[in-house]
Parts: sequence; structure tokens; C-alpha cells
Amino acid sequence: MEKIDQVLSGCRSVAILGHVHPDGDCVGSCLGLYNYIQKRYPAMETDIYLEPFQKEFAFLKGADQVHYGFETEKVYELCIVCDASDRKRLGGGAEILDRAGRTISIDHHKTNTGFAGLTLMQADISSTCELLYELMEEDQVDREIAACLYTGMIHDTGVFKYQSATARTMEIAGKLMATGIPFTDIIDRTFYQKNYRQSKAMGQALLNSSLYAQGKLICSVLTAKELAGFQATSMDMEGIVEQLRLVEDVEVSAFLYEMEPETFKASMRSREYVDVSEIAAAFGGGGHARAAGCTLHGSREEVMCRLLNRLEKECLRDGTK
Ligand code: 5GP
Ligand code: MN
Repeated sequence: MEKIDQVLSGCRSVAILGHVHPDGDCVGSCLGLYNYIQKRYPAMETDIYLEPFQKEFAFLKGADQVHYGFETEKVYELCIVCDASDRKRLGGGAEILDRAGRTISIDHHKTNTGFAGLTLMQADISSTCELLYELMEEDQVDREIAACLYTGMIHDTGVFKYQSATARTMEIAGKLMATGIPFTDIIDRTFYQKNYRQSKAMGQALLNSSLYAQGKLICSVLTAKELAGFQATSMDMEGIVEQLRLVEDVEVSAFLYEMEPETFKASMRSREYVDVSEIAAAFGGGGHARAAGCTLHGSREEVMCRLLNRLEKECLRDGTK
């Protein structure tokens, strides 16, 4: 696989993009890459375009340089997309990608469609941030870059507890820690801390949940009306689906919230044997075997029926085979 310096060599302008509804790995990888380029190639015109993200990530260096939105006519020599598996996931950023001379996708989703000219993808790696570290020159990763990459790694591994965390993940995390990053603070402030809206939404989602498939499946939905009642937005939905998966004997958790009338964002997590990325992909989404998502259209009852039908079958399969 090419190293990042090889793809940047000789380039004069680069746009960095992530995916819609940016999560920790998306923000961390985009900002980590941005800071790396700024440090190594100060003359390169480097811009980063993202949808608005949680303010808890604002302490990362470069967060104040992000263009929030995609209002630009600029044509870049190179466009690098981090943590997005298909063109649809770029939202308004797709136009910047289409205009660019060369396009590169740095990603860890096995559902990556190969939408970019060059795909630097490793499916079994914990996070785009971990992959990015492997693509960077190790001795150039300073404290600021390390804080970005560490943030992404903890978010995509649930603070190093998911199956995707390997000995190498921990080794890299150790190297990042050694640069002097405030790791306790990063974990507490960006991962565990909840604001009041998030806490209320979480409580309501837990109350709304029901068990299916002999207790192997748990599903909960928050309607637009409920979200409005808490003044909660899509940025406040982080962590709910993981909390649902913690229920004893559950194999799959599914959490849906209504983004607009009759449009639901679904997040799924599995524990041992259900590949939720296949189910998400069947509905036009994607992700990983244990964490995936998609968008569904229809009434609350219709979308639940469609998704639960599929999930119930998978959950009731013999998990030992
Ligand atoms: P989450 O449930 O936290 O939104 O996402 C879980 C994983 O699935 C992430 O890796 C995310 O990138 C991926 N994912 C979520 N929603 C979609 C979607 O609509 N399309 C695709 N391709 N991937 C998604
Ligand atoms: Mn990721």
C-alpha cells in the first residue's frame, strides 16, 4: 500500500473530506491528516470540508480551520476522503470529489465501493485513524496529530474493547500516548461525557426499546417529535445503540431515529455472529460486521417491520456455525 507521502508528493492543492454526520474516527482522521500535511508540506494549499460535528472535538488542532459545508467552486489537484465507504456518504462533498484531478479513499470499511481513483483500504483494521498512522512517517506524528488519531481510535474501538482492537492497535495507542496527549481527558470528554439532551434521548430510547427474536434482538426508535421535545439532533444520538447492545443475551441492537418525516437513520450493532454490514448493505447502507448503518424511508411501522424481519431471521440462526 502507498504511504501518504507518496500520494502527496508534488501536489499543490488538496481537499480533505469525511462522511456525513462525522463521528470520532471521521473527525480524527480528517484533522490528523490535515495537521500532518500542514506540518510536512506548509506550502500545499490544504482545505478540509465537513458537516458540523459535536463540539467535544473542537479542542483538536485544526478544528477551527474546517469549512463547515461544501460551498466552494475550487478545483483541487487531489481530494482525499477519510472513513467513507461510498460516494453517497460524502453528502455535498461529492461535488468537490468529482472536480478533483486525483481522488483517494482512506478507509477501513469492507463495504467500500471503490468510488475513488485509488483506494487505500484495510478492512480488518480498527479505525481509519489506525490505518492513517500506518501510512504516515512515524517520527512525524507529533502530539497534535497523535491527539486526532487517538480520538478516532477510541471512538471506533469503544475505548479499545471491540473485537477490531488488536495488539498492534494497542501498540500504536501506546506510541500516541508517549507523545504526551491528555488521553484521560480525551476519553472522558469525547466518549463518555453526555450533555443533558443526549442523556434525555438515551433515557427515552431505553424506555422505547422492545425485545424480539427470543430476546436476541433489541430495537428502539425515537421519533422526530420526541427528539424535538429534548431539543436533540442527530449529533446527540451517539452511544445509544451501544448501550442497547449491553442488555443481557442480546445479539443485535438496532436503533432508529427520524431525521425528517418518514426518513429514519438506522444504526445496528452485533455481539458475536450476525454480520450487520450485510443487512445494512441490503438496505443501501454499509459498515462493519459488528457496527453498521443505513437510511430507511417509510412510516415508523413500515421501516421497523422491514428491518426487524431481516434481523430476526439472522438472530435466530444458530450462532455456533
Ligand atoms: P453508526 O451506526 O455509528 O452511524 O455507524 C456504524 C458504522 O456503519 C460506521 O462505520 C459508519 O461509517 C457505517 N455507516 C453508518 N450508516 C451508514 C450508511 O448509511 N451507509 C454506509 N455505507 N455506511 C454507514
Ligand atoms: Mn471509522
